[in-house]
Amino acid sequence: MARIRQGATGDAHNGRPTEGQRPVNPPIEAGSTILFTDCRTFMDRKASYAYGTDGSPTHWAFEENLARLENADSVVLTPSGLTAITLPLLALAKKGGHVLITDSAYGPTRQFCDGVLSNLGIETTYFDPLCGADIAAHIRPETCAILCESPGSLTFEIQDLPAIIKAAGDVPVLVDNTWGAGVYLKPLEMGAAISIHALTKYVSGHSDLLMGAVMCRDSGISAKVHSASQLLGNIVPAADVSLAHRGLRTMHRRLEVHEQSAYAVARWFEARDEIAAVLHPGLPSHPQHEIWRRDFTGACGLFSIIADWSDRERTIAFVDALELFGVGYSWGGFESLCTPASPTRTARAWTEERQLMRFHIGLEDVDDLIADLDQAFAASR
Ligand SMILES: *Cc1c(COP(=O)(O)O)cnc(C)c1O
Repeated sequence: MARIRQGATGDAHNGRPTEGQRPVNPPIEAGSTILFTDCRTFMDRKASYAYGTDGSPTHWAFEENLARLENADSVVLTPSGLTAITLPLLALAKKGGHVLITDSAYGPTRQFCDGVLSNLGIETTYFDPLCGADIAAHIRPETCAILCESPGSLTFEIQDLPAIIKAAGDVPVLVDNTWGAGVYLKPLEMGAAISIHALTKYVSGHSDLLMGAVMCRDSGISAKVHSASQLLGNIVPAADVSLAHRGLRTMHRRLEVHEQSAYAVARWFEARDEIAAVLHPGLPSHPQHEIWRRDFTGACGLFSIIADWSDRERTIAFVDALELFGVGYSWGGFESLCTPASPTRTARAWTEERQLMRFHIGLEDVDDLIADLDQAFAASR
């Protein structure tokens, strides 16, 4: 077997066919029926895989290359990042159970808990993302999972994950690690049971693919997630896996550009009168900057700002004046985006009246992006 490599070299070299004359990437092996070599192997159930729901060599090569990012024991691919959150929550849920969800979680997670889990009799408590070791006060005998996300969606709070994981004891901690991309934050190495990824973002990198991954450390939890995945009929097409693997080939290199350009834009924003605050954990002005420095090794291209105005119409004029930034959901692609947002928070109310906008800094020339922002401020004044 080929050696597993790390970093950008791993992106490029892992999970490739190694024998004979061959294409660089694993071929797309699509199949529902998998033919067995002979009837005895079929009847003795001895084959390494039996049906399309078991995946294929296309899937396994990609899963191995993804697992390497966080040194995960196993990876389950899902059709979206959202499924990578809901699948492990369902797999760990128990009758009469209780889940703890960070108040800053990706929005649809909240709708899943308030809808599907609530209908199954599973109660949700949303906790302050800044609670740290005080999470202990929320843990009950029936608590079956704790979901963290750092930085938080839209508002970019950095959670004290080591303190939360320690206080959680035997309760499995799940971390949505989409922002860290498996590169800048390693929750499994901190003791989290599960690291969740929307591969839709930086792994795909081209805004044309939806996929998620559940990475597990502990084998008992991994078995539960695999079993739930099989029984829910969760499988992604081999052609999509091939596309995701193609994205992963360049991920570390793309992230370097997203990171540098986002810092340049964030610092430019900090010097502008139109901006009240820049919510970027890599800036010393961020309230949890020290925790970020301790736990993360870098930053991606996503951050928010709070404008110096509360007038919605001015936001609309600003966003519509932008030529290079699109307005639309998701992020992690090659193109820049600006999305106005109003966070839903229940553990600690969001009382900010000034306008919040989230920026994804793409791979365009950063001088062009800054010139575009500059002209949009002027046009919306
Ligand atoms: C986008 C996103 C998701 C959901 O991913 P989809 O592939 O769009 O379903 C989950 N978590 C975070 C933090 C995200 O930004």
